[in-house]
Amino acid sequence: KRAGKKTRIIQMMPQFEKTTVHMRDPERVEQIICDLIKGGASKLQVHQGCQEIITDFDMTLSKFAVNGKRCPTCHNIIDNCKLVTEECRQKLLQLKNKYYPIEIDPHLTMEEKYPFMVEWYYNSHTLLVEQRLEKDKLAEVVRESDAALRDGYEQFFDRLQKYNVPVFIFSAGLGDVLEEIIHQAGVYHSNIKVVSNFMDFDDNGVIRGFKGELIHVYNKHDGALRNTEYFKQLKEYCNIILMGDSLGDLSMADGAPSVENILKIGFLNDKVEERLDKYLDSYDIVLVKDETLEVPNAILQKIL
Ligand code: C5P
Ligand code: MG
Repeated sequence: KRAGKKTRIIQMMPQFEKTTVHMRDPERVEQIICDLIKGGASKLQVHQGCQEIITDFDMTLSKFAVNGKRCPTCHNIIDNCKLVTEECRQKLLQLKNKYYPIEIDPHLTMEEKYPFMVEWYYNSHTLLVEQRLEKDKLAEVVRESDAALRDGYEQFFDRLQKYNVPVFIFSAGLGDVLEEIIHQAGVYHSNIKVVSNFMDFDDNGVIRGFKGELIHVYNKHDGALRNTEYFKQLKEYCNIILMGDSLGDLSMADGAPSVENILKIGFLNDKVEERLDKYLDSYDIVLVKDETLEVPNAILQKIL
């Protein structure tokens, strides 16, 4: 038997030996990584070799849990901050207890979940507007929160900056909070573009609503979003690495014109047994309860 020539590159990466790494088809992953490496070197071709990262934020770039304790989403940072009254905090918690189980329910389709997500966002955003949040206070609220980016985030963002690779963060979280987190972490470099739900503030810096179309967990492919700046900035004939933690994140690149190669990396954090099969069907690499960016970093090191 010829000693697995086809799994050469993956075998050269010790990060792939971690028990958190799952792949339905390692040969396919090997092939895509090979193509991404070739793309990285094809600067002289007619269609210039180009790379882009398209990534989700909450529970993809940020941690799901530390020592068994859940980390906050962008929304949770506001839900639990001192700017929000106790009564409102309770209401937001009730909404989360009702809708988060629906978000991750392995037995419902994305279409079935969709209206519930719209309801969750509508109700929670209405409550946030009622709290008259002030723009000036957000930095402090983020500083005092338990927000945590996945281990290895410095190398991740610094390498992408160094090689001038555009990073599109496409998040159904809160853009203002997200930007503050990566700013405070010192990695909000100029190659990063954020598409998310941004608060709309009045002249006094008090929230009065949200800008643009709502982005929720299962509309990242929506026509309404297609016309945003985001899709116009995606280049043609690009190699893409897509990262997400939800099946809704798989459609983040749907609006990208003529994708050359795409490698999909999925973080599976919650309800692992029930969801692993579907994740393996849809993501090329599934990272189970892996709070690090070691695997994406190892791949980037190979292709850049
Ligand atoms: O960045 P990402 O697209 O992952 O952000 C969406 C996440 O925000 C969802 O996974 C959802 O659980 C969470 N969320 C929340 N509170 C809300 C609405 C969404 O924690 N009110
Ligand atoms: Mg997410």
